[in-house]
Amino acid sequence: MAISDALRKSLLNFLDENKKVDLLTAYAFFLQERDGAEPVLFPSGKTIYQNADEAVRLLEKEGKLWREAQVQIHFSRESVNAETKKIYLCPFCSKVYGDNLHPNPQDAIYDHVARCPQNKERLGGLPIKRFNVSEDPEMIKHYITERKEPISKTVYSSVITGKLFNSKSAVVRDFTHNHLKSITILEALGQNRFEIETHFLSSLQKQMNDEKISAFVEELSKYEEFEPYVERWVES
Ligand SMILES: [Zn+2]
Repeated sequence: MAISDALRKSLLNFLDENKKVDLLTAYAFFLQERDGAEPVLFPSGKTIYQNADEAVRLLEKEGKLWREAQVQIHFSRESVNAETKKIYLCPFCSKVYGDNLHPNPQDAIYDHVARCPQNKERLGGLPIKRFNVSEDPEMIKHYITERKEPISKTVYSSVITGKLFNSKSAVVRDFTHNHLKSITILEALGQNRFEIETHFLSSLQKQMNDEKISAFVEELSKYEEFEPYVERWVES
């Protein structure tokens, strides 16, 4: 077993900072560094995966990440149509209410001008409540907007939260940012609340065998700076 200079150095730093660590801990740290492993815990699925990409890949395959959903998108309601006889207009912006399409257009226009951001006129410090009215069919005609039919769109719902997202990649992004936690190999091995995903577990088990651990100790024993650690591990 060869251990690169850089890896030896980071292992030594780790040991210097954690003087009492046992052999398995040191070995687990070594594995993590060597393989650039980035295990993640998916708490709501009670599973630990080798890395985030693997979690996404496996959960997508099992249909546990997102589902397709249909939503209806309505365009804003028309304010004026061919049956409108009277319109109420904001003099400051393009807001309009038609008498037949609003239950109370006069109250509505009052409320609107009181809050209209483009109404800069003040009376006694309050926005002035001034609005325009027209019953001229030619005038009303300018305000008729064609209403578009609602459209149906496919979106994606998160299996975990039920929230809707516009795309699969947005669900995946939400998943990796909000539903996965980094975990070390050591933490993964030292707990029993969560399951370690099968392939990840078997690859860990292949690495965590006595033969490989002995080879690790033997390699380190070639270097003087590891002597105190190796001695302690061998004794115990
Ligand atoms: Zn307005």
